[in-house]
Amino acid sequence: MPHYDHLCQKCKKPFVVEMKISEVDKKKITCPECNSDDVIRQVTNSSFTSESINRYVWDKS
Ligand SMILES: [Zn+2]
Repeated sequence: MPHYDHLCQKCKKPFVVEMKISEVDKKKITCPECNSDDVIRQVTNSSFTSESINRYVWDKS
């Protein structure tokens, strides 16, 4: 499953969401830290990944 880097505009926390490509524009992403929906998807590569970044697997329901 692809990973998408996000950055919360509210608490400035980066996090990674795993989800299907077909879900990207349908799902409302919220910050796992503060629950804000004021998040931006970052167009980055794997260099963005680090252990300090929360990995957040979207709960597909
Ligand atoms: Zn946040």
